[in-house]
Amino acid sequence: MRENSSRRHAKMPLDVIPEPTPDSRTTFILKGLRPAFSGPGDVDFSCGNCGQILIEGAGEGLAIDDVVIKCPNCGSFNEIAPLYV
Ligand SMILES: [Zn+2]
Repeated sequence: MRENSSRRHAKMPLDVIPEPTPDSRTTFILKGLRPAFSGPGDVDFSCGNCGQILIEGAGEGLAIDDVVIKCPNCGSFNEIAPLYV
């Protein structure tokens, strides 16, 4: 049997921002330590403060734009800039 080591994910920290004004941004508040999205891509986005994975497998075919995610681990608000996707 061959080792399958082809599943490498690049890890990119997101930008931590102050808590957005309610209703001003699309905000995901995660309730568990699981990613908000999981896709087939090869980039993981992590909390810019603690490194918790917030989005797993981003890349082509996963369109996430102008979204704020509250980290379930440390409570930081992480912004996904449109330029990432
Ligand atoms: Zn965090």
